[in-house]
Amino acid sequence: MESSSFPAEIIHPARLGCMLRLVEHRTGDAAVAFQCDGCMLPGEGTRYTSVVDNHPTHLALHTSCALATPTLQHALVKGTMELRHEAPAGGAGVCSACFETVRGFHYYGSRKTGKGEHPKLHPCCARLPVSIAVQGGLTFELRAEVSHRCTGCRAIEWYYRPWCYRSTNSPDHRVYLHVKCIREIMESPGGGGGGGAGDEDDRVVARLLERADQSSKLERRVCKILVILVRVVVRMLIGDPTALLTEGVSAIVSPW
Ligand SMILES: [Zn+2]
Ligand SMILES: [Zn+2]
Ligand SMILES: [Zn+2]
Repeated sequence: MESSSFPAEIIHPARLGCMLRLVEHRTGDAAVAFQCDGCMLPGEGTRYTSVVDNHPTHLALHTSCALATPTLQHALVKGTMELRHEAPAGGAGVCSACFETVRGFHYYGSRKTGKGEHPKLHPCCARLPVSIAVQGGLTFELRAEVSHRCTGCRAIEWYYRPWCYRSTNSPDHRVYLHVKCIREIMESPGGGGGGGAGDEDDRVVARLLERADQSSKLERRVCKILVILVRVVVRMLIGDPTALLTEGVSAIVSPW
């Protein structure tokens, strides 16, 4: 998905008459951080902002939130999901994929999961690829049900169940990472601001090794692949549509 294929101007999906204009993030420019007024989560780079002449920007939306279709069929969710612009009544509920609270735009599944909950997804999380192939390395599949410890937190599926990326290599050498843990690894102390991409990669490797327990013996080669996975997933979570192109990975994204 290239940002140049996004419409230049649209009407705000939840505010009548509010025009939004596409602001593209260009390679080489420092990405501007913002809070999305749709899903209320952080964003970075390409976004839609409100158009007010001679005024500073008031609103910013992820492209995934601004262009979210009214309904969605997701490979990991039974039935059709419907876009809602407000948090669920009572403020309850977390996103099935990333486990962050749903505070604004989200997709809502009418059919309950086996655990008796209505599935919910942030628009950016709904766009996470269901499969990511890292060049010369591993392929990762997005899974809702995983019966193995996550490399990032050691928690076992069942009582703790955010969606997880699982590598498709032989079962003895599989790697598991919760979408939630991927976000935490990137946001952990020492992150953000300063340092080049190389420093950031070293930091992510350090965090992975710190979190992985001794028995998992993460090889250096696998760490390098996981860094790419972490980077792609985090950039998808913050709404950067160019992430998949620039990291040299191939991915299968759920159709809208
Ligand atoms: Zn958003
Ligand atoms: Zn989410
Ligand atoms: Zn985890």
